[in-house]
Amino acid sequence: MLQTTLQRSFTCSGIGLHSGRPVSVTCRPAPANTGIVFMVETPEGVQRITLGASAVMATELATTLGNGKASVSTVEHLLAALRGLGIDNVEVRAQSEIPILDGSAAEFAARIAEVGTRHYNVYRKVLRVTKPVELRDGHRYICAYPVNTPGAFRVNYFIDFPHPVIGQQQFSLDVTPAKFQRVASSRTFGFLRDVEYLRSKGLARGGSMDNAIVLDDTRVLNPDGLHRPDEFVRHKVLDFIGDMGMAPLPLQGNFTVACSGHQFNNVFLHKLEDENALEELVLSDPEGLSRQSTLPHSTYSSPLAGGLALA
Ligand SMILES: [Zn+2]
Repeated sequence: MLQTTLQRSFTCSGIGLHSGRPVSVTCRPAPANTGIVFMVETPEGVQRITLGASAVMATELATTLGNGKASVSTVEHLLAALRGLGIDNVEVRAQSEIPILDGSAAEFAARIAEVGTRHYNVYRKVLRVTKPVELRDGHRYICAYPVNTPGAFRVNYFIDFPHPVIGQQQFSLDVTPAKFQRVASSRTFGFLRDVEYLRSKGLARGGSMDNAIVLDDTRVLNPDGLHRPDEFVRHKVLDFIGDMGMAPLPLQGNFTVACSGHQFNNVFLHKLEDENALEELVLSDPEGLSRQSTLPHSTYSSPLAGGLALA
């Protein structure tokens, strides 16, 4: 399996969930072995933020990445789209927030599909889960198990909300570029009482029914209703892909998750690192090589590329 990047840059514009102000994000092709890097524009210049569990500075409302000098919020749906669609290398140019758009990853996924991807002649690298790891807190838990299929990332997610529209929902996804669309357009959701509380604190200024499913105690308030009855658990899977996407490389493993959230996901990512349960693996399977060797000449190997460059 070979590393990928975007064929061309794309920009998405919208409002920031926290500030309610217009923001935009531009994703650009990046050399092999760059990974996903955020270049955050600040008054003092552009700050580079690289991924890792410790780059997550806050998880209230949405996930914020930072490096002590700059931060960027609401990264999880963009990261989910990049990981879900198998983009290894990309430079994400942003201001303080990624636009919330419709509260899903649909537009990011559509724009990635539109600009297309290309391969480098450099093997893909992943972080393989090497042993079972479990995190429990009351009814919440996440378990990770090793899996041998190169690059496989599988999620089995369960939620249980005491709400007549949500209740118990379960969704499993073998996350591949072809199957990612099953969760890409599922929107985030929130309860009216929480939205009112956040607004009173000056938070979630950009939050509205344009970018979230909003529920009162008995029903969905959005005039158009739900995309699907299980949109809630599908969005939780999307968030999980994004939150595990904070690891420096894509993860290879099976994950069983119940009733988690951004903060619990991040604690789990730290646990995987702390317990030395992740090992870097270069996906140099012969099958992938013979398949990729038929690629047209538009694929290229960057002069900056390290790793196992092919002849
Ligand atoms: Zn989300």
